[in-house]
Amino acid sequence: MRKKIVAGNWKMNNNETESIQLIQGINEQITGESLDNTRVIVAPSFVNLSASLKASENTPIEVVAQNMHEAKSGAYTGEVSADMLKGLGIKTVIIGHSERRSLFNETDEILAEKLKAAIDNGLEAIFCFGEKLEERKLDNHLLEVGSQLRNSLFQLKADDFKNIILAYEPVWAIGTGETASPEQAQEMHAFVRNVLEKRYGKEVSENTSILYGGSVKPNNAEEIFSKKDVDGGLIGGASLKAEDFSAIIKAI
Ligand code: PEP
Repeated sequence: MRKKIVAGNWKMNNNETESIQLIQGINEQITGESLDNTRVIVAPSFVNLSASLKASENTPIEVVAQNMHEAKSGAYTGEVSADMLKGLGIKTVIIGHSERRSLFNETDEILAEKLKAAIDNGLEAIFCFGEKLEERKLDNHLLEVGSQLRNSLFQLKADDFKNIILAYEPVWAIGTGETASPEQAQEMHAFVRNVLEKRYGKEVSENTSILYGGSVKPNNAEEIFSKKDVDGGLIGGASLKAEDFSAIIKAI
């Protein structure tokens, strides 16, 4: 059975103390909740991973990285490799967030390399994809997402999907306050599951968690999560407040 997942992407927010306090705050709010078959994930910045991992000990909260470089090592000033993440005790990394694509020029090809490097190094990847507003307006959203999946993901083998979580994040809904309607999310998630089934078979498609991301808040989470192919959320802004993030976790 695929897992339900609520993941918080903290982006370039929170210093070390704030990261520790946020993990403690979330833990306090979800203590006593039944989290059967549900994973709770937070993604602090690289520099706060160690302190966050320590703060998350003996809690249900998993700490993951927001990004990694595709190369094994070398002259890549300012970058972080899969091996470095593993050395800290990180098991999962987000790859392909739309801000990495738009602000840091990460193409489908680069993301294919990152995914391969993550999987080859035994890391689990949360792979993000999604269409821009123009593509949605032109009714090209399914085509665009299909192409992102083919270009970056389809090099993987069926067996690799044990270590893949997908996150559909329509770019027009990220940080804008505008959310895809539950029906728009369900349409895309069902499409992605269908694409997976055609390429990898039913077992992979049924067992891969597909998260929705884009202005999920405590007041809309339950409705989005109620859709049959939506297995949870990747949350930006609302993951920065323990109360809001916990309310979203409780909505799953
Ligand atoms: C995100 O950045 O992945 C995201 C979904 O952000 P927000 O929830 O703020 O829209």
